[in-house]
Amino acid sequence: VSKTTKKASFSVQNRAKNVQELLQNARKRGLSVGFVPTMGALHAGHCSLIESAKSRCDWVVVSVFVNPTQFAAGEDLDRYPRQLERDVELCRAMGVDVVFAPDVAEMYADDAATTVRVGGLTERLCGAFRPGHFDGVTTVVCKLFQIVPADVAFFGEKDYQQLMVIKRMVRDLLLPVEIVGCPTVRERDGLAHSSRNALLSAVVRSRAVALYESLVESSRVVAAGERRAATIVDRARAHISASHPSRIDYISVVDACTLEDVERIDGPTRLCVAVVYGGCRLIDNVALGAPVGTG
Ligand code: AMP
Repeated sequence: VSKTTKKASFSVQNRAKNVQELLQNARKRGLSVGFVPTMGALHAGHCSLIESAKSRCDWVVVSVFVNPTQFAAGEDLDRYPRQLERDVELCRAMGVDVVFAPDVAEMYADDAATTVRVGGLTERLCGAFRPGHFDGVTTVVCKLFQIVPADVAFFGEKDYQQLMVIKRMVRDLLLPVEIVGCPTVRERDGLAHSSRNALLSAVVRSRAVALYESLVESSRVVAAGERRAATIVDRARAHISASHPSRIDYISVVDACTLEDVERIDGPTRLCVAVVYGGCRLIDNVALGAPVGTG
């Protein structure tokens, strides 16, 4: 199908039914649908997912929904950056076909009683510190997959555990969508792009680069032959502590598939970190043994 004849126009939708209809029609016409779920305040990381979707699919759908069920009480749901108009303009400029921006009532009935829950993987790393977080993520993503009949959905490796949890959900529930993981996009100094970076003061922002530095240094040490996970964790902890975070949730070397802690770096492993700076919780990770991108 020629790309030039494929679409009517850009649209912003807030009703699930309308999006479903629109995309089912597109699919009936033989067009493939790529989907990028987001919580908005779009940045270069989201843009790279959109570019990947454009390169693989005829139609690209971006959802913008700050999902309340993935925030625990006391987390930053109210403070989370929201800028829908700007996001819509960015999507339009990038050639996105549909922005789906529902309100909470459209996504959750008052008496909703169904939760999608992935076991095992969700208990580790962030799951141990954010009770119910991944249940909120899998429930909303499962619902979004019902609304957006996507051939391919794109997720960032920046949220590595989330990517693994979604892949497991899709496999276990036989959902007919391919999940593609996309590399982490970083700011000039290496800090991973995140909508939450906007909440950091300039001083705290400059300290937070220690996260990235610890990933690069760990990668280098492993490439030089170090195999003991404890050595990597201790070095990373010392470096991050020196940047005066308000709290370190975890610094872990884990099996890249099971996310369980490993003692030795033999097979595919990942260094994952979650650190709070100035009230803002940042996460990052890197494949050990592979170079860290600087893009
Ligand atoms: P969010 O809006 O933070 O929920 O993220 C929406 C999607 O963008 C998720 O799949 C994230 O993993 C992905 N993402 C967020 N930040 C980055 C980044 N710096 N690089 C690549 N992907 C990202």
